[in-house]
Amino acid sequence: MSTHPYHKELQIATLAVKRASILTKQLSDSISKEGTITKDDKSPVTIGDFASQAIINNAIKLNFPKDEIVGEEDSEELQNNKELSNKVMELIQNVQNETKEYDDQIGDLTNIESVYKSIDFGDSQGGSKGRIWALDPIDGTKGFLRGDQFAVCLALIEDGEVVLGVIGCPNLPKSIISNTKQSGVVGGLYSAIKGIGSSYSELFTPGFVDLDKQERIQMTNNTSPSDLKVVEGVEKGHSSHSTQADIKSKIGFNPDTVKEQTINLDSQVKYCTLASGQADIYLRLPISDSYREKIWDHAAGNILVYESGGKVGDVYGNPLDFGKGRLLQSKGVIAGNEKIFDKVIDAVKDVCKL
Ligand code: AMP
Ligand code: MG
Repeated sequence: MSTHPYHKELQIATLAVKRASILTKQLSDSISKEGTITKDDKSPVTIGDFASQAIINNAIKLNFPKDEIVGEEDSEELQNNKELSNKVMELIQNVQNETKEYDDQIGDLTNIESVYKSIDFGDSQGGSKGRIWALDPIDGTKGFLRGDQFAVCLALIEDGEVVLGVIGCPNLPKSIISNTKQSGVVGGLYSAIKGIGSSYSELFTPGFVDLDKQERIQMTNNTSPSDLKVVEGVEKGHSSHSTQADIKSKIGFNPDTVKEQTINLDSQVKYCTLASGQADIYLRLPISDSYREKIWDHAAGNILVYESGGKVGDVYGNPLDFGKGRLLQSKGVIAGNEKIFDKVIDAVKDVCKL
């Protein structure tokens, strides 16, 4: 058994994320299979969000009772909706039955009151002191509803710095070549520990796989525009695709091939694709000056990229500060391998006239 820093934290986070990933994957599959759910029906994502947050918060509180949690959800809506509550409870019980062997380590939820309570453990305001977990129970809800990519993302922030990240990617194939070429095992688990590195293992393999049996992942060193790949979001309302196009042009991408060199993915799976050396640059240019990114949307991905040899920053190239509360107080997110990062930031400054 490995004895690295944050061993217990990694184990607990992994089992909790795995349990939540099984649950959310079942919901995601039911959406695409049934095809009966319209785009406006948000219930599968709502149920999944609540159930995932309840499971993961419960695991954290059981093992690390003094830690705080910044979670995206609170239980108010659920408490006011009996039907929704019943569905959430049923799904939690089903997944707990399927993964009974995890109960010793991450506990189980047996009644709806404990589900509400667990969800509301996620009410921390964040900050620069102490141990604070950041949880996105379903990141990329738009992707989830389309049957595309989404992720269960959990990070531990210690005195304002991310020290652990675990991302479950239920719909992500292992190999991502382009928007149309993807293959390999579906379901990836990506994790990183400060000072130890980043790794990949299969998400749906039961139980915790010791770190030394996981696959170490590393970012690329590519710098030539003809070799570079860029990951960006799918949703045009979350980042400015036109500014991103101008930045790619400034870096020197060939207009004839830039489309094949751009990979659009929802959620923090973008960071996973980057950290595993399948892309070189992540562009997330803000569409408005007032939007502030949420820490749970970036904390786990941030450490994954750093620990695989990459860099992440805001539009000025400054590191993201996870110790300022529930939000990042900076604009945009840019990530890249160490060799290309500064060049990307120069292009961003140029295009955005910073
Ligand atoms: P993505 O899948 O990369 O598009 O990112 C999904 C996340 O974008 C969601 O979890 C939201 O919290 C976040 N989001 C929502 N509105 C915006 C916005 N205007 N700008 C940037 N991110 C946003
Ligand atoms: Mg999110």
